[in-house]
Amino acid sequence: MLNFMQGKQLIDTLFKEKRLDNTSFQLLIESVSPLSQTLQEETSSLSMELSSYLFEKAREVTAIHFQNHIYKRGLIEFTNYCQNDCYYCGIRRSNGNASRYRLNKQAILECCEQGYILGFRTFVLQGGEDPYYTDTILTDIISSIKNRYSDCAITLSLGEKSKESFLSYFNAGADRYLLRHETADETHYSKLHPSIQKLESRKQCLLNLKEIGYQTGTGFMVGSPYQTTQTLVEDLQFIHELQPHMVGIGPFLPHHQTPFANKSAGSLQRTLCLISILRFMLPTLLIPATTALGTIHPKGRELGILAGANVVMPNLSPLSIRKKYMLYDNKICTGEEAAECQGCLSNRMNNIGRILVIDRGDAPERN
Ligand code: SF4
Repeated sequence: MLNFMQGKQLIDTLFKEKRLDNTSFQLLIESVSPLSQTLQEETSSLSMELSSYLFEKAREVTAIHFQNHIYKRGLIEFTNYCQNDCYYCGIRRSNGNASRYRLNKQAILECCEQGYILGFRTFVLQGGEDPYYTDTILTDIISSIKNRYSDCAITLSLGEKSKESFLSYFNAGADRYLLRHETADETHYSKLHPSIQKLESRKQCLLNLKEIGYQTGTGFMVGSPYQTTQTLVEDLQFIHELQPHMVGIGPFLPHHQTPFANKSAGSLQRTLCLISILRFMLPTLLIPATTALGTIHPKGRELGILAGANVVMPNLSPLSIRKKYMLYDNKICTGEEAAECQGCLSNRMNNIGRILVIDRGDAPERN
């Protein structure tokens, strides 16, 4: 375990060099966010002191690139059908208790219309891997949004697709794509997914997205079952190699109708520390303060912003279907109108000295 000066030195090295070797990453993560109960008690004051330093430096880096601006994305969860069966997900194929829905183009455009009035300039179309939405249907939806709102960015989060499909969405006007890798460790990946789902294929999708020209996002759950500090280090090294434009991380939260129903939730402190570490590694990264963070702690999103996040994603989906997109239990903001969500978040951001801006919020060019 590191003492304060050693920890501070590692944080300063990460700040300057944007990367650490595996051992140093592991030592840093365990020092700022120890998980075992005994260690937590012994080191709580040291880890608190060190993590305060980490958060403070991360805020400095964020301010250099984004001032006090927070970008908002309007999230439209347009289908909760999914052909996959990820063990951690509440809308996995095998969950016969999930009440399924699909939004048609008209309903999606209505969400965009409301979002545009509320000042959103990015729409995120998110759904399970749902073959009902063919490339023809999807490109029509994407180009229709783009034709009406040419000053807005479109982000897709639709899971794994062929390179041709990714290209067709890009040509139709999609700007960004989110595809969390979830874990960069093969063995760990195989414990979170059925054997038909392969880490290699997910990584290839991410490479394809970058090659096509998407602003590309990846990410992972913190504290997912069987995760270790070593697998987290692999995640960080994979992100260093990939150089994505966006990284979304949130604590693992169990869903009662999944094989992981009885697993423990991830740690808030560890999630926050990893947000800061990512901010050092890729200073211009777009990092959301996720809904999962807001679910695990009433001030989770504010804490995420204060650890270096710079994006929030309020829900624009129609109220009638919000409760049906339950990836995990107790998800917040499922009972509020889009305008209420937006007003509430705006106040929350103002309270911590940040402002929600009306902006596409593209990833800054990297030198
Ligand atoms: S995590 Fe995504 S791909 Fe996996 S089951 Fe859930 S919606 Fe489908």
